[in-house]
Amino acid sequence: MSDACEFLERRSVGDDGESFEHERPYCTAVEAFVQPMRADICAKRYGLDPETDCEHYREAKGLGSVTGLDGDAVDDGASTPTGGDES
Ligand code: SF4
Repeated sequence: MSDACEFLERRSVGDDGESFEHERPYCTAVEAFVQPMRADICAKRYGLDPETDCEHYREAKGLGSVTGLDGDAVDDGASTPTGGDES
């Protein structure tokens, strides 16, 4: 396992040309700076893994939702109450 997500870069200049004093983590999968709460996943700390824990990674790789609920599930009627025998 590598040290960090393959989509993680470090940038010292913002999209608007602003220079930062320190490099900031940037996600090339979504082309945005990484939110602090996600940084541990990007850096693979604490056993976290982008492949299983980051929806941006999974979307970029076509792996589906982190939860397994992709929002395109077909309603098979399983949640419809049967009401028992109506005869
Ligand atoms: S946000 Fe997700 S895809 Fe982007 S660098 Fe972090 S772990 Fe990788």
